[in-house]
Amino acid sequence: MFEQLGDRLQGTLKKLRGQARLTEENISDAMREVRIALLEADVSLPVVKSFIGKVKAKAIGTDVSKSLNPGQMVIKIVQDELVELMGAANDALNLAQTPPAVILVAGLQGAGKTTTVGKLANLLKHREGKRVMVVSADVYRPAAILQLKTLAESIDVTYHPSSADQNPVDIVNGAKLAAKNAVMDVLIVDTAGRLHVDQQLMQEIKAVHAAANPVETLFVVDSMTGQDAVVSAKAFDEALPLTGVILTKTDGDARGGAALSIREVTGKPIKFLGIGEKIDGIEAFHPDRIASRILGMGDVMTLIEEAEQKVDKEKAEKLVKKLKKGKGFDLEDYRDQVAQMNNMGGIESLMGKLPGMGNLNLPAGAMGGVMGDMNKSVAIINSMTPKERQFPALIKGSRKKRIALGSGTQIQDVNKTLKQFTQMQKMMKKMGSKGKMMKMMRGMG
Ligand code: GDP
Repeated sequence: MFEQLGDRLQGTLKKLRGQARLTEENISDAMREVRIALLEADVSLPVVKSFIGKVKAKAIGTDVSKSLNPGQMVIKIVQDELVELMGAANDALNLAQTPPAVILVAGLQGAGKTTTVGKLANLLKHREGKRVMVVSADVYRPAAILQLKTLAESIDVTYHPSSADQNPVDIVNGAKLAAKNAVMDVLIVDTAGRLHVDQQLMQEIKAVHAAANPVETLFVVDSMTGQDAVVSAKAFDEALPLTGVILTKTDGDARGGAALSIREVTGKPIKFLGIGEKIDGIEAFHPDRIASRILGMGDVMTLIEEAEQKVDKEKAEKLVKKLKKGKGFDLEDYRDQVAQMNNMGGIESLMGKLPGMGNLNLPAGAMGGVMGDMNKSVAIINSMTPKERQFPALIKGSRKKRIALGSGTQIQDVNKTLKQFTQMQKMMKKMGSKGKMMKMMRGMG
């Protein structure tokens, strides 16, 4: 889903990621590329313009050049604006209506309405335990009525019969009565599709809407139609008080333009995504998760936010400078690193937010022992003299005994800490010499 857009945006933003310095000029350059990526994804032009404008204003307004990692800051701003564009949070179905709560489903022919009615009915019945009835008011295509009947039977949902010789308003009134008598929680009404927005059918659906008095009026639209999806959503929204949009066929949509434009253009939230032809091919639309997916970044953003709040930037900068000058990494630096990690919720929390690491499925508490050891190390280092911290080679037999006593640990604990420190020191040296260390440290801020 949205792979093409994802690849383009990730490619552009990757160039920024490692940048230690950003100027208005290279922000502008990056934004030019983001703009092209969005246009290629078929995001509507006014939406692209306003999006780029907001990102630029924020990037310049927050003066990203002052942050420890300006490139990463810009990416975060792009992420925030993507989420904002798509609606900030998930809008769930509102079924607060005296039962039966009516859901009216509208859209162009072939958008996936009938399939979506089946998916919603299935979800509400089998996941939420609701009593669900479905009915088709599509009197123009007997095949559509039959399609819904077959679908309803396959998922064991109550089907209210209708036929091509009936009036759609009568069908709706009859179904409402039947749903009420059968003590249904929800009645989902499928409506006639149209090939394009035409006046006569719009009048009809308005009448159907008035009779149904739905608590949810959902516009179903094919994600792959890009900007056309936005145009038809707007037309339907003007005819009917839409409460939300369901974007279908996102499984085949590499571009994602509709997903990014609909909310901004119509002001109506996307509530679900159709992600396949099967009955369970539907998922709730979460703007933040979609933005993360588009940017291919797991939940690294939360990690960056935490680092922003919790990492002592001054200390991190100092360490980078020190290592740059070729000075060694000492026990005091080691202690600082452990403290930073603790501040950010420990190893387990850090790993959970890294892309690819979150699904390692480590048993809960698996890393707890490591943190316990690290905390012991902090106590041990605290019991050393500043000179010992700087020159660990000084720490021999009698000093070890004193340190163990002072920190309430055993000599072997002191040995372990020194060994771990030596390993980390070696790693730092290796990374420092390749310039990787600098990148990693900056990545932390
Ligand atoms: P309607 O005319 O709006 O009622 O559209 P249908 O429900 O008959 O669907 C039209 C076609 O789109 C059918 O072949 C569906 O299987 C297919 N379809 C619907 N939703 C999805 C989806 O989310 N993903 C995919 N791949 N196909 C879908």
